[in-house]
Amino acid sequence: MIKPTLLSFALAMALGITGCQTTTSTEPNIAASNQYQPLPVRADIFQYWLDNGMQVILQPRKTPGVEMRLAVHSGSLQEEDQQRGLAHFVEHMAFKGTTNFPDSQSFKALEAQGINLGSHVNAVTSYNSTVYKLSLPNSARQTTELGLQILSDWASEISFDPQAFDKEREVIVEEWRLRQGVGSRINDQLEALRYQGSRLAQRNAIGTIDVIRNAPVEEAIAYYQKWYQPQRMTLIVSGTFDNFAVRSQIESLFATKAKGDTPTDPIAWQQFPSQPTLQVATVFDRENSRRFMQLLLQNDIEVPLNTVEGQWQETLDSLWLSILNQRLAILVANGKLKAATVAPQSHLLSTTRVQYLMIAHPFSDHYDQAFAQLATELQRLASQPVSKKELESAKQTLLNKVEQQAKYRAGYSNQYLADQLVQADSYRLPMMDKAQQLQLTEAFLSSLTAEDIQQHVASLLQATSPKLALIGPDNDQASVDVKQMPDQWKSIRVSKPAPFSLTKPEINLNVTPQASGEIANKTSQLNFGPRPVYQYQLTNGMKVVVVSKSDLKGGTQVNLRIPGGRSLEANHQLGIVDWAGKLAEQCGYGQYTAHQLTQWSKQHQVSVTPYSELLYHGFSVTTDTDALDDALALLHLKLTQANHCEDKLSEMKQVTAQNLSKVPAERIFMDNISREAFEHGERLVATADGDWNHFTSEQLVEWREKLYGDPAQMIVTIVTNTATENVEPTITKWLASLAVDPQLPLKPVDRGIEPKSIEQEYSYAIGSSNKAMVQIQYSADHSWSLEQQMQLQLLEQITNNRLRETVRVKASGVYVINMSQMLARDPKPYYLARLNFTTAPNRARSLAKLASQVVTNIQQHGITQAELDQAKNAWAVNQGQQEQYSDYWVAAFSQDAFSTKPYQAVTHSVSMINEATVESINQLAKTVMDKNQKTFYLLPRQK
Ligand SMILES: [Zn+2]
Repeated sequence: MIKPTLLSFALAMALGITGCQTTTSTEPNIAASNQYQPLPVRADIFQYWLDNGMQVILQPRKTPGVEMRLAVHSGSLQEEDQQRGLAHFVEHMAFKGTTNFPDSQSFKALEAQGINLGSHVNAVTSYNSTVYKLSLPNSARQTTELGLQILSDWASEISFDPQAFDKEREVIVEEWRLRQGVGSRINDQLEALRYQGSRLAQRNAIGTIDVIRNAPVEEAIAYYQKWYQPQRMTLIVSGTFDNFAVRSQIESLFATKAKGDTPTDPIAWQQFPSQPTLQVATVFDRENSRRFMQLLLQNDIEVPLNTVEGQWQETLDSLWLSILNQRLAILVANGKLKAATVAPQSHLLSTTRVQYLMIAHPFSDHYDQAFAQLATELQRLASQPVSKKELESAKQTLLNKVEQQAKYRAGYSNQYLADQLVQADSYRLPMMDKAQQLQLTEAFLSSLTAEDIQQHVASLLQATSPKLALIGPDNDQASVDVKQMPDQWKSIRVSKPAPFSLTKPEINLNVTPQASGEIANKTSQLNFGPRPVYQYQLTNGMKVVVVSKSDLKGGTQVNLRIPGGRSLEANHQLGIVDWAGKLAEQCGYGQYTAHQLTQWSKQHQVSVTPYSELLYHGFSVTTDTDALDDALALLHLKLTQANHCEDKLSEMKQVTAQNLSKVPAERIFMDNISREAFEHGERLVATADGDWNHFTSEQLVEWREKLYGDPAQMIVTIVTNTATENVEPTITKWLASLAVDPQLPLKPVDRGIEPKSIEQEYSYAIGSSNKAMVQIQYSADHSWSLEQQMQLQLLEQITNNRLRETVRVKASGVYVINMSQMLARDPKPYYLARLNFTTAPNRARSLAKLASQVVTNIQQHGITQAELDQAKNAWAVNQGQQEQYSDYWVAAFSQDAFSTKPYQAVTHSVSMINEATVESINQLAKTVMDKNQKTFYLLPRQK
């Protein structure tokens, strides 16, 4: 299984590994024993151990901000039976008071700086660890000091105030309840299969309701004292900070903690029983219409992953999984499978166990066929060497990927790197940087053969515990015979399939521009950072807006927008705008089938998708900046050569009927709200007996032409990180070349969809789990202004803080509660607010009352200056983060494209936030809030 010494020698040369590690301190548990060769450690970290056994990893970087992690290597696996759920409970108590930050002051101190609980301050409890995260957007010395102080308190100074503990019980119960529903019913069964026979099966982090409700606080303290000890902790700091100051502060805060005496965990906690017979679970649910299967292969980790030999195994994994993925794509392209993928990497279930995951979608309910195909492909890899061509291509793909990562490694965010270090530390993975990874990969790939892969897969299947889950609607239970599947697996495992001979149909996208055209006119609209935003008028009448910002993340994004959308639909043809776009996507474009274009898009990492909103429709395009030309070629094809076909339409109708017959209760609830809360609300809801049943393909083709025919009615927004000039040839080639085709101008039609001016209560006892969902809507007639819309964002933040304080913290009634507030602009302006939470059915009414009192109180008495200051800080921090991404800008610019004063929002929002005063917000709150209250309850179905 392990390559001969020659390779090892070559590697040692390449990586400069000598006999000993260069880290200065003694690592207490050395994963790489003499048997295996150690790996280099990334050069940009200082890794050391305090005398009490606590590990510290410092990673000073030039990227602004500081990420801090306190990883405690204790989680739910460490709980005794009577403690199930307490690891997570302890995590909650960290936010409820510590020695130096009593009364939840710990994060209040951060909130004052605009740092949000949830996005910037967070903690996660899992099987093996509890990780506390701080994301500090600035590196001021007092900020890092505060951050370390908080982590130090969490490590050993949580207060466990008995009253706070009791109050938090129901909050955690509500956290559990929030997840209840079809998703958790399916997920629970998948987890039971995944962890079967191991300690993990009994240690879901949320624990048991009985423990959460009844465990004495002493039990949580016992867990904390035993499992939060310095020798089980790692502190990670990544970002821009004063290295010397941080080191000495760590010394004074953490090195003073006493060394603990808890022994290391029994290895049995990480182990899984071996089960060579295929285990099958059926997960069929009346609220689910999607059919798919998960095939899991679970294996013990034979070689430590943080060694040269372990990474050799990992490289073999990357290659066979990528080849298998290619083969599955070819099978799909040849109609042998509906859809199938394998996860590109193995997943660590514990420190000693990995899992490989394959997902396939059957044709109709023929699960056994899809399963046989997956199993055969695995067996083929184990019994035949892969072809030379496959191997070379997989090697090249892997190499390209690692090369890219190495090239751009300076651009990784602090957050990503800190999380990677946590992961590596928890699962004993290598701590290499991408350049070191590249050297290693190159060395491996130069000698790795097809026989290596075959042997690797063969021994992996030999030792594996295979598991299969079938997921689908409840009526599949009767039609699927699962009993024969273990035998099916057995017989495929002794078969010898022929070498893989199918080939992928080559797809080259050949698009001929429809006409010729030019950029007629270029004007600069506004300054956007160092570069102006340009608007182009094309000779075919189309307008193009190019926003260029060099440091944008998220590639290039394009939005093609046309007025009209679903408002164009008459009352007897609801849904037709959406269906017209979708049918073309199913029937293909020009000489290409839908499937070919999907494959092509995947290969080129391009997505070009039609959308329809209430008042607008169009296409949204996401692409790597390098591939923009490809993406717009595809857009050109889709705008000019939509096919139509009868057979796909009837297929779409069947699928839609099936989907609408197995709908989660929560979705029916939302549909009911739309119908009751809005005039003409039926336009917002898709139903089984809807107009779509009668659509014909002629009709859809006609609509398609009307909707997408005339370039003069389109505005295209391009947000990119390349310079504007680079985009111009592409605009000329693919957008100016759309033929002139004047059509009746499309305009949004006012269909009178607006909130009903009534006060009412509605209950729906249709839920399938033990929870109540509550939505309270408020509405008012109110004119639109950008200024007030920005003020509403601040008001929303303040309202949510108050709701949280009252309904979660004081009343222990919910896990999350949220009220969104907006001013609609078109076609008729109004104010609308939606307040949402989930709670216990018997508390739904009293908590709805409590929540609405918070709203009434703000409406009557307004907000304070301190609240406003904090909301402005939080807005600025949040805004700063969003602005790094191209999808934020493409939404901001395209949504404003057709307004009478375009792009006011992107130029004026900051000043409007700054100018908002307590008085202006209180005035607004008084006018709009707390009007026309409609309350909706989703309650459990009556037994
Ligand atoms: Zn929690």
